[in-house]
Amino acid sequence: MTDFPFENRIWDPAETLARDELRALQAERLRETVARVAHVPFYRRALAERGVGADDIRIADDVRRLPFTTKEDLRQHYPLGFLAVPREELVRLHGSSGTTGKPTFVAYTAEDLECWANLCARFLVAGGLRREHMVQIAFGYGLFTGGFGLHQGVELVGASIIPAASGNTPRQVMLLVDLRPEVLICTPSYALNIAEVARAKGYGPDDIALQFAHFGGEMWTEDMRHEIERALGIQAFNNYGLSEIIGPGVSGECAARGGMHISEDHFLVECLDPDTLEPVPEGEQGELVITTLTKQAMPLLRYRTRDIAALDSAPCRCGRTGTRMSRVVGRTDDMLIIRGVNVFPSQIEEALLRVDGATPHYLIEVDRPGAMDEVKVKVELRPEAFSDRMDEMQRLRDRIGREIFTVTGLRVGLELVEPQTLERSAGKALRVIDRRQNRPGG
Ligand SMILES: [Zn+2]
Repeated sequence: MTDFPFENRIWDPAETLARDELRALQAERLRETVARVAHVPFYRRALAERGVGADDIRIADDVRRLPFTTKEDLRQHYPLGFLAVPREELVRLHGSSGTTGKPTFVAYTAEDLECWANLCARFLVAGGLRREHMVQIAFGYGLFTGGFGLHQGVELVGASIIPAASGNTPRQVMLLVDLRPEVLICTPSYALNIAEVARAKGYGPDDIALQFAHFGGEMWTEDMRHEIERALGIQAFNNYGLSEIIGPGVSGECAARGGMHISEDHFLVECLDPDTLEPVPEGEQGELVITTLTKQAMPLLRYRTRDIAALDSAPCRCGRTGTRMSRVVGRTDDMLIIRGVNVFPSQIEEALLRVDGATPHYLIEVDRPGAMDEVKVKVELRPEAFSDRMDEMQRLRDRIGREIFTVTGLRVGLELVEPQTLERSAGKALRVIDRRQNRPGG
């Protein structure tokens, strides 16, 4: 393990369970979960329709006999139709933002919260967190699961916390400079935002003490990781989770950073073709479908996450045995189909990061003025890239257009905008405005 950038510590012995023990534990917990969801009318009906009960679950792969759950199912049973325990047993509620206005609520028992903290502690420790560290959490503390979930995980490890919450970026910078925390937790786009404000105030990596950062809550790319690492002088770790399943803590990177180890003793993750709903071969991209194995308040069977990623069960040199998932490369519902080509916003970002002078701040606007889709990408330039010389600007524009074509196969319109003109967000960044949906027949 000497080639790891730091000591490889493992928080929970369950992270290194032998594969056969893990599969047996999954089968046992899956059986318990199927028995538990009999308290939820939606599942009682769906299981009866399929003629499946807890007794039919003998191995983990029997998950394939169970019904799916979609975001739409949760919406239709708003607000708490998926509770598997009496309301009095709840100790916390969170909600995930919905595009339709109302959030999707999720609920936790005391046992769920304890489990959640432990799952967050696993990936935080895997990514360098130690008891002696100070941690700045710049995630929203509210209905969103990011702030409180990570907070509890850090607390369990015993490190000290600056609950900065998201927003007020100049204050974030002040906290980083004055209190000198070693660890930052937020969304990757917000970390870039913080780095930018720090730079504008004249602070560089040497003025802060950050060593590690844990990023989640949105999609990002490997290039963006390098960009943030350079800007803040840190090592950045990726983690994954979603409110409906538990929040952050489904998976996270170890020091090898070759994918995020899934806590498979708590989550049974399938990778399926989103159209056929059949498993894709290992290593190929598909939709992640997750069954919770230990959730008490709101267990979910085969929840369709809409997140596209690939799985890898090859052994990892850190010693953890959990299957690793790739970073999320897109969402089935973020996927833009432009002139018949599938495009993810993360691909545009990947292209922009290849061009000196461009920043990963961008906005994709899609229209259909006639029969054809038209795409314009607004790209913020670096201050030093702005020039009065038309030929230089044209060269830069051509270069960006070429990179986007290389990555996506699409020719797009480009608008190069001045630094700091696109709206910043303290949480998930707005990347796409698709005006086609509003058109009759569009
Ligand atoms: Zn590992």
